[in-house]
Order: sequence, then C-alpha cells, then structure tokens
Amino acid sequence: MPAVIDKEKCNACGVCVKICPTDVYYGSKPKEIPVVMYPEECWHCNACVHDCPQDAIHLRIALNMQLVYKS
Ligand code: SF4
Ligand code: SF4
Repeated sequence: MPAVIDKEKCNACGVCVKICPTDVYYGSKPKEIPVVMYPEECWHCNACVHDCPQDAIHLRIALNMQLVYKS
C-alpha cells in the first residue's frame, strides 16, 4: 500500500518526487503538495519517508506485510 502525505506537515519541497525510484509521484506539480499518482508502483523502499524534511510521509503497510517489515 502506498505512501501517504500529511498535508498539514508537507511544505511542498519536492524531495519525495525527485527521490522516488519508481516515480510514484510522477506528474506532481512543482511547489504543490505531491500527489500519489501511481500507488501500485510503490515497493516500500522508505526513501521518501526517510528523506522528507518535514516527516510528512508514512507508509500504509498491510498487516500481513507488517509481520516481515523492518524499518
Ligand atoms: S518530501 Fe515531504 S515535505 Fe517535501 S514535498 Fe514530499 S511530503 Fe512534502
Ligand atoms: S516508499 Fe519508495 S517507492 Fe514508495 S513512494 Fe516512497 S520512495 Fe517511492
């Protein structure tokens, strides 16, 4: 399940858009809160979560995946 952006925390810096290796946020407009355009492409690498300067992204991990997920 894809990344979720907290719109209250996001400052629209665009770091997540640039860093996502699978272009989940592809098509998001500069200086606007990114949009999760291709959620099915997210493979939970955590890059956007770690690099977001606002700590505004979290991943929704399915329960069965949480059993093997390591952050
Ligand atoms: S990296 Fe964080 S603060 Fe920057 S645009 Fe993405 S969600 Fe918003
Ligand atoms: S967790 Fe990885 S693949 Fe998923 S949206 Fe963030 S950077 Fe992209």
